[in-house]
Order: sequence, then C-alpha cells, then structure tokens
Amino acid sequence: MRQYAYRAQIFHLLDDPQHDAEAFQYFKDGLLIVEDGHVKAVGSFRRLAKTLRASTKINHYKNHLIMPGFIDTHIHFPQVDIIGSYGRQLLDWLQDYTFPAELAFKDSKVCVETARFFVKELLRNGTTSALVFGTVHEGSADALFAEAQKKNMRLIAGKVLMDRGAPKGLLDGKDLGRAATKRLIKKWHGRGRLGYAITPRFAPTSTPEQLAMAGVLKAENPSVHVHTHMCENKDEIKYVGELFPDSTDYLDVYEKHGLVGDKTVLAHGVHMSASMCKRVSANGAAISLCPTSNMFIGSGLFNLSQLRRHKVRHALGTDIGGGTSFSMLMTMNAAYSVCQLRDLSLSSMDAFYMATLGGAKVLGMDKYVGNFELGKEADFVVMDLKATPLIARRLKIAKRLKALLFAIMILGDDRMIAETFVMGRSVYKK
Ligand SMILES: [Zn+2]
Repeated sequence: MRQYAYRAQIFHLLDDPQHDAEAFQYFKDGLLIVEDGHVKAVGSFRRLAKTLRASTKINHYKNHLIMPGFIDTHIHFPQVDIIGSYGRQLLDWLQDYTFPAELAFKDSKVCVETARFFVKELLRNGTTSALVFGTVHEGSADALFAEAQKKNMRLIAGKVLMDRGAPKGLLDGKDLGRAATKRLIKKWHGRGRLGYAITPRFAPTSTPEQLAMAGVLKAENPSVHVHTHMCENKDEIKYVGELFPDSTDYLDVYEKHGLVGDKTVLAHGVHMSASMCKRVSANGAAISLCPTSNMFIGSGLFNLSQLRRHKVRHALGTDIGGGTSFSMLMTMNAAYSVCQLRDLSLSSMDAFYMATLGGAKVLGMDKYVGNFELGKEADFVVMDLKATPLIARRLKIAKRLKALLFAIMILGDDRMIAETFVMGRSVYKK
C-alpha cells in the first residue's frame, strides 16, 4: 500500500469548541500521512518524519495550511446560473428565478453539464462534502450522483418533491414522486460514499398527501436523510400558516408527517420560537445556517445564541443560488457578521468547527470525515497563505493561531484554495 506525506502547517478540530475550547490540534510544521485514502497519522514533522517509509516522497507546501475539507450542509446544484440575480424576497425569488431555471433540467444534457460544473466548483472552493438539492427531475439527481461518484466524494443529495405552487413542468405526477425517489434510493444510497436525502422543497410546494408519502418513504428507508427548508422568511412562514391551518407552526407540518428526526436537515431556521428550538433539539434534527443567502434575500439574521441555548445541532450552508458564494470561508465571514448584529461574537474556532467537523456531525458523516483522526477518510484542503498580496501581508503578522484563522475566514475565499484532496487523491489544483 503506497504511502503519501504532506508537510505544511496543519490544523483540525477534535470537538465542538463550545464543549471544549482546547479540542483542536495545530502543528506549525506538521505532517499528514495518508495510506489507502485514509489518515495514517498527523502530527509534527519532527516527530513523524522518522516513521515514514524510505520510499515515501514528502510533498512540502511552504506557506500553506492544511485542514479538513469544507462541508456545505445546504446547497442547490441547479441554481448555479441564478447566483447573483437581482431580486426581492424569497417567494418572488422562487417565481422569478428559481422555477424558470429549474425547468431547464428536464433536459438530461443540462443536468449532466451543470452537475459537472457544480462539482468542479465545490472542489475549487475546497468543499469536499455537501448536502444538495436537485430539481424535481429524476435526471437531475442521477447526473449529480454520477459526477460526485467520479470524484469519489462523500455527498448526499436528492430529487426535489413538489406537487403544487410551481409551474406544471416542475410538479410530481400522480404518484407524488414516489417511484422516482425509490429508484434513486435503490440506485445511489450507500453506493460508494454517496447517500440519499428525501427532499421536499418546503411545505408550500407539497400537498399534505405528498408530505405523508415522503414520511412513509422515510420510515421505509430509515438510513436516508430528509432535507428541506424551514422558517427562512416571514412571508413564507405566514403562507405556511394559511396552507396548513391545522398545524401549530411550521415545524409541526413536518413533524406531523414523520419528517423530523436525527437525519433531518432543515435549511435556515432564521425565525424560530423557543418551542420549535426545543422540539428540533429533542428530535435530534439539525439546522443549516445560510448567512449569505439570508442577507442577500433579506430573510433575516439567524439567532445562534438561541440555538445554542436549546442545544440545537447546526452547521453552515451556502444555499447557492440564494447564497452569494460557494466559498465556505466567505460563508463563515457572513456568519460572523450576522452574529455581530445579534450581539454575539463568533470565534474563529466556532466558525471553522461549523464548516468542518460540525458540518460532518450535522450530516451524520463524522465517523468518516471532518477532521484528521486516525483512520478517517483523507478529505483535505491546502490553503495558500500568500494567495493575494493583502492576505500575505496580513497573515504574516498574525502570530497566534486564533488570529491567523480569524484573518483567513474574513479575508479568504476560493483564491486561497491551492489544492483539494478527496480520499487522498488530488482532485483540484490551482
Ligand atoms: Zn435553499
């Protein structure tokens, strides 16, 4: 078995900084040893260099930082072409941009070409795992899974379920999307590193019958995820109240249909009551916080203090195309700004946790990825600490780790990603 060794500054988190502020490792001159796509060892170069086999060549990255690949817990692959479209609020955005863009995915050529671009763009931004929305078309999920499989990515996705409130070409037929979802689960769930997520877009675009069908599918396939939106925008919440008058709140719509459990990821959760936080927490579901999207679409400022108080699991998502960047660094920057406006100071450790190990936990993949624990899959990024003249100048004077990480998350973006590795294989190089 061939051995690979990477020498650089190395950083990774071992636990949630909220539980243990010291649960991280940083090696100023570090070495990451990979065998058969898995982490064999991580530590200081001085200590580990002598354990290397004579035949192992060391890849030395001077002025670079190696860390675990980023994990994006909410993103739409068919929306890459509407990123940066001028719009108003969520419900208008969907009608004006999202639905017309998604209609194009009835063409399998569009699915394949966009999936290819999307996966490349994830890797170019150092994102090695993601939870992804397709469109209602079976071919959209098929194309994305096929492309992710080519790169051997640990990725979860699903075809969208919708049977009302959208153009006819985007609605599931008489069987409510059951057959296509079942076929996709059978074909892709657990294949290689891939997983399936049952993906109702959000309560307004599914009838109670479709949500019930989704709940039955989830019960029949307990290991699949559920991925949807909740409490993003005030008009949306009001609309859900009108459509589901028998439900006590937005979360109740999903609870009633068996869609809220420890494999459920609810995107946004910007406007949640204490009761909703308690129930999400008790059910073990998670919230994907999407700050660039929330600010761009004008949805609001998420309340991290409240989520922490109720021990609600959470991590970060880009929410492309409502979100404005594929970069998890820029997403961390936006999360910091949102917290500032909520009187909470988000530390660099907390932000990097949410973008790596915390994201892995939210997606139930922390057994495999999220940090460099022995035996984990070697998904990692190499960041260029001299990516731009300003970054080089600013990082040079950041003497302590936390200051270095903070400057990276505020100034950094895709330009910092020098190389991305999936299972120890280089899949992107600047
Ligand atoms: Zn979304």
